[in-house]
Amino acid sequence: MLEFLRNWREKRILRHSPYTDTDWQQALSRLPLLDQLNKDELDSLKRLATLFLHDKSLEGAGDLVVTTELKLVIALQACLPILNLGLDWYEGWVSVVIYPAGFTPVHTEIDEVGVVHEVRSPLSGESWERGPVVLSAEDSMGGGIVDGHNLVIHEFAHKLDMQNGVANGMPPLHRGMSAPQWSKAFSAAYADLQNRIAHGKSVSIDHYAATAPAEFFAVLSEVFFEQPRVVQQTYPAVYQQLTEFYRQNPLNV
Ligand code: ZN
Repeated sequence: MLEFLRNWREKRILRHSPYTDTDWQQALSRLPLLDQLNKDELDSLKRLATLFLHDKSLEGAGDLVVTTELKLVIALQACLPILNLGLDWYEGWVSVVIYPAGFTPVHTEIDEVGVVHEVRSPLSGESWERGPVVLSAEDSMGGGIVDGHNLVIHEFAHKLDMQNGVANGMPPLHRGMSAPQWSKAFSAAYADLQNRIAHGKSVSIDHYAATAPAEFFAVLSEVFFEQPRVVQQTYPAVYQQLTEFYRQNPLNV
């Protein structure tokens, strides 16, 4: 889309935003994770979240009513990873399906066709290649506390990873980034985590990260935004790659 048309469209959507200051405050009160952002960053995030909610369809499954608060809480978390990347990174799909709490998937073993599904029980989220993101409302609402876990960031990290095909732990890298350097940093860290777990050593990263390279990227993305020092101290080369990819340095705030 031509740049001026895009700007015009975005301004129009923002001008007609249905969300009030009270709505934002209510959502933000659930998201201490975002306290680290300065005012400009928070304003950008709110704009991005408004555009996200305009472009995407958030649908409740079963009896779930998708409240404004739930929409904003999900959108704000979903847009944190793309704060300095832009909404284009979530192109190619439209639906976010929300279940009240953990859900049981109706499909099994379909990683081969591009679905990344979480085997944590009960299932709390999924990302489908070119398809929906599936989230548990309960886990999404509770994700903003700073504990190193964030379902929404996890599932949307899979979406970023899928921008260049099946989720494999390497999203499309920016100009100036090096695929061999990314692979070297992530492969070494992934092998180290598997090794530490196999030998019963204590690790500060969720063991789920060791189940597949795609999960390693998604889990490390959660920790990068929630507890950046843990990533920086445990796997500094991975931290460096994530700062270059997300164009954010959560430790420099
Ligand atoms: Zn996952």
